Amino acid sequence: MSEIRRDYVKNKWVSISSNLALKPKDFPVVKMDTSGAPSGFCPFCEGNEAVTPPEIFAYRKGQAEPNSTGWLVRTIPNKFSAFELEGELEEKHIGLYRCYNGLGKHEVIIEAPQHDTDFHELDLERMEMIVATFKLRYNALAQDERIKYIQIYKNRGLFGGASLGHSHSQIVGFPFNPGENVGLPQYYKDKGSCLICDILQQEHNSRERIVYEGEYFVALCPYASRFAYETWIVPKRHTEHFGQLTEAEEKELAWFCKKLSMAIVHSLGNPSYNFMINTAPVNSLYEPGYHWYMEFTPRLLVAAGVEVATGVYINPTAPEIAAPVLREMFEVHSIEAIV
Ligand SMILES: [Zn+2]
Ligand SMILES: [Zn+2]
Repeated sequence: MSEIRRDYVKNKWVSISSNLALKPKDFPVVKMDTSGAPSGFCPFCEGNEAVTPPEIFAYRKGQAEPNSTGWLVRTIPNKFSAFELEGELEEKHIGLYRCYNGLGKHEVIIEAPQHDTDFHELDLERMEMIVATFKLRYNALAQDERIKYIQIYKNRGLFGGASLGHSHSQIVGFPFNPGENVGLPQYYKDKGSCLICDILQQEHNSRERIVYEGEYFVALCPYASRFAYETWIVPKRHTEHFGQLTEAEEKELAWFCKKLSMAIVHSLGNPSYNFMINTAPVNSLYEPGYHWYMEFTPRLLVAAGVEVATGVYINPTAPEIAAPVLREMFEVHSIEAIV
């Protein structure tokens, strides 16, 4: 179990594990090979199902039993989760300090049974299964009233925070809204319209930061990108929750994930990266103005002292420079030509 402690200086929440107690030598930065290459035993590889907690959901070839081999995409509880969906949220006060118990849910989506297939190398059919799994688990977690915010994300490579080389993504159900996207409901209060829809309109007119426009989604490098080559995949339809994705949108999002991850890996020298799906809070008082979007953040530089100290990111590549580089990979190369 863990505690979610309030940092009153920074006005942020911090999850502190009390059951893991990693020693200095246990940290991935010390342990892991920077390439994320196979190093010994991997619990996510096909054949090692007995080592992981029992699966929550899997796409399989045929009718095989759960927790056996023959799966294509497999969702399991995170064995080292800081969160547990037991009981109710409890607030504790210790003098001037305040914390909550680590109520929540943390799941891992293993994206392929083989160890050495990277996310950008997966075929479109597998990408579609991964996006469908995200939607299925998002909507399942949203059913639990105790969960208030659902974060889907991927850590790829050492500088993206990956602790295992085997391609996987994760989903966390938080008992509160971390509030990273509160600019969206605030803009709606001030202007009476959706900020993301307004951004899409302005970007559509200028086009300089647009990477690619599809039928349902637009990929763009945001005006105030925190990271070099940061790229958002934004649904054109005003949709608050990721779980409202239609089947046609799921298919196109899978295509965008394939193209963008390929563009990042091939254009930027195989860097670490993260992706995150930002969406509206669930089981909370309704606030208009949220519009979900997915962001990819290549980790070409490590967040340094100034970013940690001030929250002001110093980005050496303007999004107007980044967008044409990624656009070239979208336009010039078909998926088949790069695979
Ligand atoms: Zn593996
Ligand atoms: Zn909108």
